[in-house]
Amino acid sequence: MTVPPVSLAPPATIAFIGLGMMGRPMAARLAGAGFTLRVFDLSQKAVSDFVGAHPTALATASAKAAAQGADALITMLPDGKAVRQAVLEGRDSAREGLAPGTMVIDMSSSNPVDTQQLARDLAALGGTLLDAPVSGGVKRALDGSLSIMVGGSAADLERARPAFAAMGKTITLCGAAGAGHALKALNNYLSAAGLVAMCEALVVGEAFGLDPGTMVDVFNTSTGKSNATEVKGRQFVVPRNFAAGFTTGLMAKDLGTAAAVAKHLDLNTPGLKLAVSYWADARNRLGPSADHTEIFRYAEMLADEEA
Ligand code: NAD
Repeated sequence: MTVPPVSLAPPATIAFIGLGMMGRPMAARLAGAGFTLRVFDLSQKAVSDFVGAHPTALATASAKAAAQGADALITMLPDGKAVRQAVLEGRDSAREGLAPGTMVIDMSSSNPVDTQQLARDLAALGGTLLDAPVSGGVKRALDGSLSIMVGGSAADLERARPAFAAMGKTITLCGAAGAGHALKALNNYLSAAGLVAMCEALVVGEAFGLDPGTMVDVFNTSTGKSNATEVKGRQFVVPRNFAAGFTTGLMAKDLGTAAAVAKHLDLNTPGLKLAVSYWADARNRLGPSADHTEIFRYAEMLADEEA
């Protein structure tokens, strides 16, 4: 039996898997918009904290239990491997609980080549997949203004649009399955490169005697302006609180994904390779859970070493 397509309008039931830095505020936006949530995370604390704050959401003990009776399933997990485990291959995976034909929406930053495979595997089971990674960080997850990059069919995007509208402001259909994930990884290459450039410029400028706050203000009214200078410089780097809410480990993972896509397509991208090794070394030296804005501390460390 195939379940007819259901538009994901409130109070439709959404199984939401992954209540971390991003998943928590995104699921909260869905609850606030009137969706019925069945939530799961490997961390029991993440689940109990969430249902404590959102009593209409139902805590479940596995991806399978979350999926039961859901009109759609959303994943917000570290990477595509975790998504595959939760959806298809792990113990008590969502596949065992999902009704045939149910839409799976992967909002994690996953590897697009893996996503294409997952889309084929779900299609073989009668289901559909949308990849819908996000950009904007915790701040924009909290206020529902994320940029959402969608891969999949236009019809599935229209079905999912009310849920996306609760979480994001800009919703872009990027192409077929995997297209959203490819664009997200490439976006983060730009984001990572811009952040490194700002941090190295601040290290050099400070050593020259410039005030870092003044430097950021001038970048923001000049051609050096970027996302890093606009929303990370004055906020997290100059005051050294390093509290953007996105880890160095996840940024290194996203750069690895962008490089894997280039390699898959047999393209030589030396700048991207440099960024991959820079962030991989930073992750090893700062630790994977260090905030990605701590790349400034890494730039300071390197500056003090022999060139
Ligand atoms: P996070 O580490 O804070 O959260 C991930 C959550 O997934 C954790 O609570 C973990 O317990 C849970 N988890 C892991 N494997 C699981 C499994 N198999 N089943 C159930 N739960 C599982 O990560 P995050 O910062 O929320 O990022 C999530 C995704 O969003 C990543 O792909 C990241 O690259 C992407 N992203 C993050 C940001 C950001 O600013 N933090 C911004 C855009 C995109």
